[in-house]
Amino acid sequence: MGERVIPLTDWRRAHVASPATMVPVTGLLSDALGRPLRDLRISVTDRCNFRCSYCMPKEVFDKRYAFLPHEQLLSFEEITRLAGLFAAHGVRKLRLTGGEPLLRKHLEILVEMLSALRTPDGDPLDLTLTTNGSLLARKARSLRAAGLKRLTVSLDALDDAIFQRMNDVGFPVGEVLAGIDAALDAGFGPIKVNMVVKRGVNDHEIIPMARHFRDRYGAQAVLRFIEFMDVGATNGWRMDDVVPSAEVLRRLQAQWPLAALEASAPGETAERWAYADGRGEVGLISSVTQAFCHDCNRARLSTEGQLFLCLFGSRGHDLRSLLRGGANDAEIASAIAHVWTARDDRYSELRGSGHAAGQGERKVEMHYIGG
Ligand code: SAM
Ligand code: SF4
Ligand code: SF4
Repeated sequence: MGERVIPLTDWRRAHVASPATMVPVTGLLSDALGRPLRDLRISVTDRCNFRCSYCMPKEVFDKRYAFLPHEQLLSFEEITRLAGLFAAHGVRKLRLTGGEPLLRKHLEILVEMLSALRTPDGDPLDLTLTTNGSLLARKARSLRAAGLKRLTVSLDALDDAIFQRMNDVGFPVGEVLAGIDAALDAGFGPIKVNMVVKRGVNDHEIIPMARHFRDRYGAQAVLRFIEFMDVGATNGWRMDDVVPSAEVLRRLQAQWPLAALEASAPGETAERWAYADGRGEVGLISSVTQAFCHDCNRARLSTEGQLFLCLFGSRGHDLRSLLRGGANDAEIASAIAHVWTARDDRYSELRGSGHAAGQGERKVEMHYIGG
């Protein structure tokens, strides 16, 4: 049987990034809406061993789906070179993601290379990784030893049957929980745990999840509830499936008194709430009901080296052809500066208005540019 043909052309047909005129690197880039560039999310693979229906539904991402061949992926050297140029432009935080980043072979080597990078002030970057936790029990120690600073683990339910249904490959929840324990033993606390909430699927797991993480780990685990988003074009998103953060908060407050906390950094996506009895905090990420585009300082580098300016973008800007075409650092840095300076994306703010960037074009899939 031939490869499945699905219309991926919009987001796999990138704009050509070009240095145009040379721009000096000042570390003070700002986009068309005055937003700085601080956070770079790097997708190290488009493959995953889970098939979460909200991200890589099994019916689409099956045996016939054409994942990228290895030579199309950025190499560790290419990723590190680009990350260094982004750091020179003001990026302070790097997040490795995917697909499932722990499926990329020898990822510890990349972590080691990235942990050697410095900001223009000589500080190390905040290096973090988001994983489904399936391989964490095996890899937590080596990632820590390689210089990874922080971890986010995605977990949508404690109930094994619900979790297995959500990852859709029958992966047992016990192994992810063991991965979280291993990561804490390896020195990764506090760990963030991300739960995507879908109405009627796992919303009755909100309270059991909160209870488990506060009772067992206190401040060492921060559970964050994420509204199910309309990323990509394959997850069958409907507003009816979204449980608004305000409702999640009401349900939590019916169990425990909570007090609002200040955001930990500008551009922080989660609204933070502390348990009044001191057993740590929870986060609410309201990507649908409360847009946070006004201070969005995140850029995304796809598995094959395209720069995306918004999670809901439909086209990237091809940096790989510059890397492989022999451009020097100043030229690539200029190309990045041109792309960022022109950025005016704010999809979540415009959602539903009919004016969102690239509307009518097919949006990029999340596993390709990471969350
Ligand atoms: N495979 C890794 C994982 O699951 O943690 C990293 C990549 S995954 C695309 C990054 C994050 O995006 C996960 O926390 C996942 O739950 C979240 N995500 C994926 N699709 C989503 C959607 N439609 N709405 C909200 N969050 C989503
Ligand atoms: Fe894989 Fe993460 Fe997407 Fe689930 S959310 S399918 S674990 S990439
Ligand atoms: Fe940033 Fe785009 Fe999300 Fe708005 S919709 S917060 S611009 S990634």
